[in-house]
Amino acid sequence: MDLDGLWQTALGELEVSLSKANFSTWFKNTFIYSFDEGAGEIIIGVPNSFHKEWLENKFNPQILKTLLKLDSRTKGLKYKVISKTAPALKPASAPALTPSFEKAKDVALNSYYTFETFVVGASNRLAHAASKAVAKKPGSVYNPLFLYGGVGLGKTHLMQAIGNTLVLKENNQRVVYATCEKFTNEFIKSVQTGRVTAFKERYRNANVLLIDDIQFLVGKDSTKEEFFHTFNALYQDGRQIVISSDRPPQALLALEDRLVSRFGGGMVADINPPDLETRIAILKQKRKEKAYQCQDEILEFIAEKVQQNIRELEGALTRLMATCQLQAQDPSLDLANQVLGSLWARVQGPVDINKIIGKVADFYGLKNEDLLNKRRDREFVHPRQIAMYLLRHELGYSFPKIGKELRRDHTTIMHGCEKIEKEIIQKSGLKQEITLIKSRIYEK
Ligand code: ADP
Ligand code: MG
Repeated sequence: MDLDGLWQTALGELEVSLSKANFSTWFKNTFIYSFDEGAGEIIIGVPNSFHKEWLENKFNPQILKTLLKLDSRTKGLKYKVISKTAPALKPASAPALTPSFEKAKDVALNSYYTFETFVVGASNRLAHAASKAVAKKPGSVYNPLFLYGGVGLGKTHLMQAIGNTLVLKENNQRVVYATCEKFTNEFIKSVQTGRVTAFKERYRNANVLLIDDIQFLVGKDSTKEEFFHTFNALYQDGRQIVISSDRPPQALLALEDRLVSRFGGGMVADINPPDLETRIAILKQKRKEKAYQCQDEILEFIAEKVQQNIRELEGALTRLMATCQLQAQDPSLDLANQVLGSLWARVQGPVDINKIIGKVADFYGLKNEDLLNKRRDREFVHPRQIAMYLLRHELGYSFPKIGKELRRDHTTIMHGCEKIEKEIIQKSGLKQEITLIKSRIYEK
């Protein structure tokens, strides 16, 4: 295979394993510049130092693995910026320097965090729309933009999506992203090393300043003072500022009123925990990105379980799929429950079959034994079917397993579960009934 063919094949593989945004951003205009077969070293030509940094830091292991698979002589990779004037081996694929990237070297953005990979639902619609508007017209519509919400709900993702959009724009903006912690550390260090001017320049030259997790700016008076001045300098000059926090501005008690009132002067948008539909949509998107083989039923099961944190939601799916791969098994509800059971226990009180049977019996004023015996009166049949349904949906038990536990044939169990599933849609009272039982089951 010639170098071009080797790289095209490698790109084909990488494309499948990366998100579309990542792939098109970082691999466009790259090529194999040289392959020293003796030393096993491949040099990849990249359009600019920004790409070089990203490929080295973020994708090197993946690229190396892919090339090694295609050519076992591969030992190491290097990246080289090939400028227009340098002798490019392959003029056809030699990329043009994109000067706009050069200006953005400071950026510490994760290229995965784009608007394309962000799933919009009722819980984040406002924050998403405001972020898009800012990315379209920085410094004009919503300034500052203040995003707030609980942990793992997409604040950093949205902020960085604004940054990534602007960095990629033709008329590139100087984007500076920093967590509040980083801002603080850099400031303190600049004071210690006598480089405060350089620090100020860096932040005050930003066209767009993104400061993540501002709630950590507490009790550090000089840093707070510096932040206030940075904020004012940029704001007065019409530069865009985006701030994120885990609470609304007025609840940032440790910050000065004058700063908090500035935050409130622009756009304040909250992000709430996603509803079930959005959680399912997020898992479906993950499945697509990672090309997981996994039925909707399992995604729905995970989405019902993990409700408060999108990072944990994704983490649950990743963990399940990793286990499936290791054990060479297909994902199933049973396996999901087995692998993720400890996660459920952490997110909500520990739940097992005894707890479900106990709570269901208790709810209907029965004894546990009543759910297991053979009596066919309606006052027993309905609670039994609810128990089947809950064992299936809350613990992911298979029909035969529920059958064994409830001393019934698995077709009886299947019929029972289906009946409840159907009635839940038809009778709103039943849905509420089950919600009440569930809240008792998950009480800590
Ligand atoms: P926060 O900064 O609010 O703590 P993050 O932005 O770090 O949360 O989000 C946590 C994880 O969840 C990230 O991997 C992010 O990509 C993902 N995520 C959050 N919201 C969404 C969404 N609406 N669509 C897709 N992924 C999301
Ligand atoms: Mg964050």
